[in-house]
Amino acid sequence: MKSYKKELTFNTNTRRAFINITNTVNDCLSESGIKEGLVLVNPMHITASVFINDDESGLHNDFEKFLERLAPEKPYGQYAHNGFEDNADAHIKRTIMGREVVVAITDGKLDFGPWEQIFYGEFDGMRNKRVLVKIIGE
Ligand code: ZN
Repeated sequence: MKSYKKELTFNTNTRRAFINITNTVNDCLSESGIKEGLVLVNPMHITASVFINDDESGLHNDFEKFLERLAPEKPYGQYAHNGFEDNADAHIKRTIMGREVVVAITDGKLDFGPWEQIFYGEFDGMRNKRVLVKIIGE
């Protein structure tokens, strides 16, 4: 069995952002040389998500509005977690959007359903954040 690991770094210029990382994960897959197996992608931080959905800007605006309704960023004082930090909303948003994705690799390709794309979801950005890509197979 072969194994491959890479860490990606993101530093968004806004507090929240959705970034399509499908091409980057594809580059990792090519680099790994693995043809059959699994790829795991997860942020190494508890205020960011990796998730699969449609690359459609209306939907991304809907996600933003939905998450702000459930866990508004402000007022910061509404959260017990906020004292030294102001990112309670980001922890909650990340938990709603999920931690990681696992995608099957078949014939050297990400074995997606129609319209599936991989996104990095940032909820407390403007600093370096890492994402782990782990691929196993042969
Ligand atoms: Zn925190």
